Amino acid sequence: MATKNAVVTGANQGIGLEIVRLIAQRPDVRTVLTARSEERGRAALAKLQAELPPAAAERVCFAQLDITSRDSIEGFRQWAERELRQVDVLINNAGFAYKGDTWGVEEAQTTINTNYAGTASVCEALNDLVPDGGRIVNVCSSAGKLSIIKDAALRDRWEHATSRAQLDELTHEFIEGVRSDTYAQKGWPRSMYGVSKLAECQYSRILADELRPRRIAVAAVCPGWCNTAMASFRGPRPASEGADTPVWLAFQPDSEWEWITGRFWKDRKEEPW
Ligand code: NDP
Repeated sequence: MATKNAVVTGANQGIGLEIVRLIAQRPDVRTVLTARSEERGRAALAKLQAELPPAAAERVCFAQLDITSRDSIEGFRQWAERELRQVDVLINNAGFAYKGDTWGVEEAQTTINTNYAGTASVCEALNDLVPDGGRIVNVCSSAGKLSIIKDAALRDRWEHATSRAQLDELTHEFIEGVRSDTYAQKGWPRSMYGVSKLAECQYSRILADELRPRRIAVAAVCPGWCNTAMASFRGPRPASEGADTPVWLAFQPDSEWEWITGRFWKDRKEEPW
């Protein structure tokens, strides 16, 4: 019987869907496949349930969640409180990237709003539904490592930020740099996706510190270059392989929480931020 609840964001396709498929194999877990589109989410759930053994199919359900919408997050929170009571495992997988060399202020804003601010808002809204000893896994990216910032002073500010407010300020500076076309001279890379993922990574590090007293492990993970829509189906790795480390982290035994938390992971190994 399912005794734990797992919530996966952006799970109607790609790595998120494979994360749900993997967790569904665990008899003790009920998994919520969430998607911003009700239609795409329900279609993905129906297809997945048809592919799973009947007992596993019963342990998966759908709920709408657009991580950039305040109303949607609040609606999901109320649903989760009523239907699940607690979220033992939260996997923030939803993410967005423009194709090719798309560049602009609105595009930078959208990318940061989704990958960083959206993920942070979901964590903040669901935080108190995660029980002591729970798990939060953020699917970040190696594209968001500190090394993408070549300017030492700017990198130092990212590395030592201790609050979401400081990260908001840094992402705002990047967007203003894009607006005035001064981002390069101010030390920023030409990557909206990279900066959004850097903010998501550093937020994960800060959240891990905040939730340490409750023994909630917060881990950041890179799934590797996967064969998904985001990668225009050019990645060498199947999405199921990208799903492996996030799920592995989410279900490490309780005794391992301190070893997992506040770290960046790839292929079941720790890497530098
Ligand atoms: P996909 O494009 O296949 O899937 C992304 C998922 O996120 C989709 O379900 C998408 O929904 C959803 N999403 C986008 N915006 C929102 C939103 N506002 N609210 C809720 N859901 C949203 O990409 P991947 O499976 O490859 O990516 C999964 C994660 O892995 C992302 O965070 C990505 O940055 C990260 N990643 C991927 C890599 C790769 O090589 N593929 C490499 C490194 C990191 P919809 O279908 O409606 O658009």
